[in-house]
Amino acid sequence: MITSERIHQIIHGRRAHQAPALLRHPETDRYALVGAALFDSAIGNLREGLAIQVAGATIVQVCPPHELPEGIPIVDVAGCYVMPGLIDAHVHSEDWHAPLYLANGVTTVRDVGCALAAVLARRKQWNAPAAAAPRLVCCGPLLDSPGKTWRAMGSIVSSPEQAVAMVDRWVAAGVDQIKLYASLNEACFRAALQRAHEHGKLVLAHLQDCLDARAAIEAGVDGIEHLSGFAEALWPERRAAGEGWRRLWAELERDRVQRLVELVVARGVWLPVTRVVWHRLDAAWSPFDPDHPENRYVPWPLEVWWALHYGGVMSAGERVEWSRALAGMQLFTAALIEAGARVIPGSDAPFIKVMPGFGLQDELELLCECGMAPAAALTAATRLAAQALEVSHLVGTLEAGKQADLLVLAGDPVASLRNLRKILAVVRGGVWHRPELLLAQAVRHAATANFAELRRFDEFY
Ligand SMILES: [Zn+2]
Repeated sequence: MITSERIHQIIHGRRAHQAPALLRHPETDRYALVGAALFDSAIGNLREGLAIQVAGATIVQVCPPHELPEGIPIVDVAGCYVMPGLIDAHVHSEDWHAPLYLANGVTTVRDVGCALAAVLARRKQWNAPAAAAPRLVCCGPLLDSPGKTWRAMGSIVSSPEQAVAMVDRWVAAGVDQIKLYASLNEACFRAALQRAHEHGKLVLAHLQDCLDARAAIEAGVDGIEHLSGFAEALWPERRAAGEGWRRLWAELERDRVQRLVELVVARGVWLPVTRVVWHRLDAAWSPFDPDHPENRYVPWPLEVWWALHYGGVMSAGERVEWSRALAGMQLFTAALIEAGARVIPGSDAPFIKVMPGFGLQDELELLCECGMAPAAALTAATRLAAQALEVSHLVGTLEAGKQADLLVLAGDPVASLRNLRKILAVVRGGVWHRPELLLAQAVRHAATANFAELRRFDEFY
């Protein structure tokens, strides 16, 4: 039973309070969280003195505790911080990733490339009301031209007519957004983009062989992954030499950068820059660290797949070149953030030592290295990413009517993003999960993965 004396005790005791080591979960499906500071992603800052009332899967209201209904059961979160669940805008999902995402506070993901039937089946499963999995928004397969592409998650078209027909097929099957891939030729790119927009679908692109970022943005693309196509747009003259980002660090050409950044901002293009992938590509070329704490979650067939495809060793010269490229991308990302571009976090898990969930945590810290403030990173991972995934009506903010996708943290994530890893409870659609149990489940999966899965990994990508 809530009394005004109890509310006073919880609110005013908060600062003196330590967050509890083990949080008591609610015992009914109607309750209120009282005593925490809330991260309000609508304003991008903390708010004190507010309670969150939940019924089933939904937030009923966010209000001062004295406005709560008489007698509502209280979850005492004094000393804690509560925020909306995190969103990863760029993943390639598999069933076993679910507990790793939730354990890291990721309650929504966007799959940007997967075999069609597999991802639609997974979306149905993961979006079920009480699923112990993040919500899933999906693009279906990657649309690409003949050549080198991913076997199972790519779909090849040879003409604009085929590209249009493929988009029609995917939209009829129920994909949420459309992803255009690296080798897609310009005529197919433009035809697919136009068709997807006629269907009202957002279009994301991984650019490489044909259009550069400026051309893709001018054509109307809605999102660009991995900062692809930007170096080509900045230095078309370097394209033939394959220099890409490697020279930017030495000669930041402010005018060119500024003009492109202005175009990105004016068009509101979504940018999951996936810095974590570029970092891991660098690290993956050196021998793997066998003692890395995340290794226990890696099923050995995936470890083998990583080693086979990304296990080479870089020469000293290559390493210097790669460091220059990383520095160039970092400077450009910083320019984007400074100008207010829509940079959002994406991990590209499970590629190259990027573990689901952990990878998003790393990505947020890497964005802060580019000048994004922690509060802005939290906003990008919640409210902004929800907009990019077109799920703002469901998640991304703590508001009446939204899904109860919440994180209860033991530390202040605005003061330090490291506190985002101190998760006491993950609530997804009103269902409470303990991270340590989810991680134990992931360890069991990794330990029992069998040889059949090695073939699956190889075929899958
Ligand atoms: Zn990807």
